[in-house]
Amino acid sequence: MFSSFSYPPLDLSGDHHIHTKLCNHASGEMEEYVQAAVANGLRSMTFLEHLECGLIYEQQIWLTEELFCQYFEEGFRLKKQYAGQIEVRLGVEIGWNALAADELLAVLARFPFEHRGLSCHFYFDGSRHLNMLSSRQEHIDALSAVGADKVLDAYFASLIEACAVIPCDKLCHLDAALRHLPGIRLNARHHEQISQLLELMRGKGIALEVNTSGYAVRPLPYPAPAIIRQAADIGIALIPGSDAHHPQQVGRYFERLG
Ligand SMILES: [Zn+2]
Ligand SMILES: [Zn+2]
Repeated sequence: MFSSFSYPPLDLSGDHHIHTKLCNHASGEMEEYVQAAVANGLRSMTFLEHLECGLIYEQQIWLTEELFCQYFEEGFRLKKQYAGQIEVRLGVEIGWNALAADELLAVLARFPFEHRGLSCHFYFDGSRHLNMLSSRQEHIDALSAVGADKVLDAYFASLIEACAVIPCDKLCHLDAALRHLPGIRLNARHHEQISQLLELMRGKGIALEVNTSGYAVRPLPYPAPAIIRQAADIGIALIPGSDAHHPQQVGRYFERLG
């Protein structure tokens, strides 16, 4: 259906969403990701490691401040070592949590992040945080029990709130929430929220990520092409990212965006 869709111009010479083993749910040393990017012929790459604060969650799948110190130490070494081959940037994927906005802002002020992506991964059900992007059946079941429309409504409302509060450069995987829920669909209200969100982004100069990890889950990137087009039509810049959680995933599916 979308095979004839032509993407607005995208600079595919860099992958600007790359994780590392430091987040505790990816594998591979930072250097292995740099080597993969060089081998793929990329001219730039951006590590975008997970920052989350104030979550009530059973696992720690993000970086603590101590880990971010290690991240910068190794990242600065790699920047120098590979300077002649690739530009390496040290960024952050900021996971929005309305209950911890001040804490998030404090961490952002403490580290010299070169690129800031904004996301929202978790839904708070009143007692704990549920991962809206997880494929774990327990989370899918709990979110289904709340109701997909209600969760998505809260998700888009959270992104609108987050964009107003958190200084950032781009919005990540805009329509990836509940991606593992079979038959998931956005309704008219969600599309209204997305239009409002895109207007807010345009006003603040926040770019939209075109996240190719979507191709591994559905045959489309995040967000879907119609939303990418809607953003480009109002002048929002587009930034590609693979959301690599393994070195072999650097630059994955970029050929489908050309
Ligand atoms: Zn991750
Ligand atoms: Zn993410």
